[in-house]
Amino acid sequence: TDSPTPPYLATNLQHFQATLARLWTAVHWENKNKETLWRLVVDGIPLPGNTHLSRVPIKPCECGSYGGDTDQPYSPRMHHFWECPIAKAVREQIDRHLRLLSPATIQGGITRQQLWLVQAPTGCEQAPWDVIAMAALSSMEYGRYCLRAATREQRQQGASTHGRQQQTQTRTAEQGPRQRAITDFFNRLGGFTQEEDEAANTHPSIYTTQPTLDNAVQTTASPLDQAQA
Ligand SMILES: [Zn+2]
Repeated sequence: TDSPTPPYLATNLQHFQATLARLWTAVHWENKNKETLWRLVVDGIPLPGNTHLSRVPIKPCECGSYGGDTDQPYSPRMHHFWECPIAKAVREQIDRHLRLLSPATIQGGITRQQLWLVQAPTGCEQAPWDVIAMAALSSMEYGRYCLRAATREQRQQGASTHGRQQQTQTRTAEQGPRQRAITDFFNRLGGFTQEEDEAANTHPSIYTTQPTLDNAVQTTASPLDQAQA
């Protein structure tokens, strides 16, 4: 029952292969920033529920919105790199910035195809988008890791502070990791710009102020600002 690959899919695949080749040869950036995309491509992030890990039971996400009883088809990739509040927080940063640059073209926000297949949205240059997409995916993975660590820590603290003074903080479990994913995202973009500047032996030229979720101010030289076509 093997049906031939639909033409649109074949085109996408061809395009994506070219994209990967470009990212690996033309984008000079530390491999740690490219790794998440690569592992995502080969389904290689060890997420229970992945196609080659189908016998491993689904592990619910600590955000509480994935892996519960009501969730139908389990796709850990779809959750952790798109739907999870951590992933959404990173996406929102991109949407917000692109909207500032080009209000008309980014209505409704970036799409999954643009992010996962590294296809620049209309009105956005491809070169900065290469960096933005890889940074975003890396930070989503980092945020997933932070959320798991934070939840584990909270559980341990809950056990050890039993009977002692209750903490007054009532923030939700993913609040901290969400902010850390966002900060990580801007740090990666800043790191890329710095590497570029060092290579060109010039001073960073574009610095902008990025308000973060908690209104802390961060200074970043960002491919986000170069994204406008
Ligand atoms: Zn989640």
